[in-house]
Amino acid sequence: MSSGMELGSVVKIIKQHAPTSLAESWDNVGLLVEPSSPHTVNTIMLTNDLTPPVLEESLEKKVDLILSYHPPIFSAVKRLSQGKWKDRLIIKCIENRIAVYSPHTCYDAKAGGVNDWLIGAFDTSNVVPVTNAEEIPGGYSHKVNILTKDSTNLQSVLSSLAVKQVSSPITTSSGEVMTVCSVLCNKCTLSEVFKAVEGSDCEVDTIENVKLEKIPVSGYGSGRYATLKQPLTPQEAVDAVKKHLNLLHVRLAAKPGNKYIKSVAVCAGSGSSVLRGVNADLYLTGEMSHHEVLDAVYSGANVILCDHSNTERGYLKQVKQELSEKLKDVNILISETDMDPLVIV
Ligand SMILES: [Zn+2]
Repeated sequence: MSSGMELGSVVKIIKQHAPTSLAESWDNVGLLVEPSSPHTVNTIMLTNDLTPPVLEESLEKKVDLILSYHPPIFSAVKRLSQGKWKDRLIIKCIENRIAVYSPHTCYDAKAGGVNDWLIGAFDTSNVVPVTNAEEIPGGYSHKVNILTKDSTNLQSVLSSLAVKQVSSPITTSSGEVMTVCSVLCNKCTLSEVFKAVEGSDCEVDTIENVKLEKIPVSGYGSGRYATLKQPLTPQEAVDAVKKHLNLLHVRLAAKPGNKYIKSVAVCAGSGSSVLRGVNADLYLTGEMSHHEVLDAVYSGANVILCDHSNTERGYLKQVKQELSEKLKDVNILISETDMDPLVIV
């Protein structure tokens, strides 16, 4: 029996496992429903999607936190009503004090995340992201260069803001010793920096605002590409995918005249935008449209489609194992009712 942990500490560990800074800008990740504190988490339920059966199961199993890979709240919410099935789920979570957390594209981009798990269907060497994730060091997006005669005064003016300062003295052409104070901040604190400097009595000469460039992070990013250690026929690739994803059926679009697959590109979920134009002998993803499949096949790639969430769900076993090591006082379950809505009949 688990002794439980406070929600804040649990969320901290979930974020250490997959930082929310890895999420795509359009995504809605993190703690989406936060019950009022104190909220002790004894049981976490991992699921790919929060559906009515998964919520029923969570209520039966007295779950305190649902970790749903896809975010159950995505677009801006103006009202929560009983008329919509997704709203009803969120209302029930709130009424029953169930917290909801979604990692989504943090798991996609993470090194060792869902895409690394997916490409594990094959015996590969040199797995790399199709597109590298980009991060701004330290989470700062802007640098404000301030030329001042009194850097000590400036430091006290900025001391209450969440910024990082780097100062270096310079001698101007007139022989005067000045200090360039570079203030690193994010977009939210940028206006506060300007306001604080303008409202202060410190003598500022010039202010320059520089937007910091994002730097690609090795090993993190969208999709994965790899070469195979041994070339496979399309049928052998299909068998490897079925085994890894525990599926009886997948769909194959075979490239004309193709014999062997030497390289693969994968993208969990809906892969067209990530895989388009990638030079690989095989694309493995959950779903692609008819026209995207035609484009891929006649541009030189075999395509295996498994339905969207079948390329994501299996990773939850790995998440359970990894989080269990860090959350020893919490019972972590994988939903038994979560499944892809499409079945081959
Ligand atoms: Zn998905």
